[in-house]
Amino acid sequence: MKVLVINAGSSSLKYQLIDMDTEKLMAKGLCERIGIDGKLTHEVIGMEKMKKDVPMKDHKDAINVVLDSLTHEGYAVISSMSDIDAVGHRFVHGAEFFKDSCLIDDEMMKVGEACCEIAPLHNPPNIIGINACKEVLGSIPQVAVFDTAFHSTLPAYAYLYALPYEYFEKYKIRKYGFHGTSHKYVTQRAGAMLGKPLSELKIITCHLGNGSSITAVNGGKSVDTTMGFTPLEGLIMGTRSGSLDPAILPYLMEKENLDTKEISNILNKKSGVLGLSGVSADFRDVEAAANDGNERAQVTIDQFCYQVKKYIGSFAAAMGGVDAVVFTAGIGENSAGFREQIVSGLDFLGIKIDAEKNKIRGKEIDISAADATVKTLVIPTNEELMIALDTKAIVEKLK
Ligand code: AMP
Repeated sequence: MKVLVINAGSSSLKYQLIDMDTEKLMAKGLCERIGIDGKLTHEVIGMEKMKKDVPMKDHKDAINVVLDSLTHEGYAVISSMSDIDAVGHRFVHGAEFFKDSCLIDDEMMKVGEACCEIAPLHNPPNIIGINACKEVLGSIPQVAVFDTAFHSTLPAYAYLYALPYEYFEKYKIRKYGFHGTSHKYVTQRAGAMLGKPLSELKIITCHLGNGSSITAVNGGKSVDTTMGFTPLEGLIMGTRSGSLDPAILPYLMEKENLDTKEISNILNKKSGVLGLSGVSADFRDVEAAANDGNERAQVTIDQFCYQVKKYIGSFAAAMGGVDAVVFTAGIGENSAGFREQIVSGLDFLGIKIDAEKNKIRGKEIDISAADATVKTLVIPTNEELMIALDTKAIVEKLK
């Protein structure tokens, strides 16, 4: 069985074609800067990575670019679309409706679309991805895997907000948490790297990318996480504000005469790293500006690292200790500088990294200093493999 995994994010789209009979990756790639200009990185396993500029005005364009790449003469891994047996989609917000992965049908899409209201940045590109695949691939089964599922183990004291209780009852306003597939994957890999059962481990997983979240995983279960009712809560992100004093919202709405759509757009699309730095939503651009002496760029980096450090401390307290801190996703996997700044001063908790090991990129590595009592691990996330496994399991049941 060949499963195409689609992970459509706010400005990027990752994909993998996985042969699930062997669990071997056939081809993978990344469409970046969607809606800005468009860059494709495509890799057929065993061949050289290919990078090119391809205009992508939206996610539908990106899916077409992916399908073209997989069948393109010269580096095709499949001869035609009919070689794809199933498609697995990352679906960000399942609210209280979806506790597990499920087959995509009309009913699922209806409910999934209703969830767009509370994930305006993420669910719409997921849905566009699904519809584009339906158009191009016809009736091939498609499966949705929800970011919220891993966090269904949160205790009530962690997921409830101190609003009048009726709003929880009426609207199910509560913390759901996101990036669950990633947090689950790196948790399992951390257990394997440490050679211990997850039931014996307290792990803090830091998924730091364009969207960022941190999760406290005690005994293999998510017990707290930084994202909330929507993926807006928690850390400062590419274009998202992260947590704010809620009183700022009515104040700003009154001052600027904004309606709810406009304030939501500001919080989701114009804030965060972009809004604070005034440079870009991409930390690489912000780092370059900071190196050129841009003070707003520097304070953006400092704020991000400070926030991650605070959450590591608070989650260690929440779990009564920590055995390992895991860094993953774009920033977590690639930036030695961010990792160093985040953990500096955490030696009182036993978290200390080795400067030389910290320079290594692109693979699973323990970067802890020899005298650290808490392990610091860098683990490239593999949400796609987890999505493909769920997709295979659901599609096999249809037979
Ligand atoms: P993701 O959402 O996981 O694809 O991560 C994208 C984010 O990772 C973007 O904000 C990038 O700027 C950031 N990123 C990737 N590589 C680096 C790096 N070497 N240094 C700093 N940020 C990086």
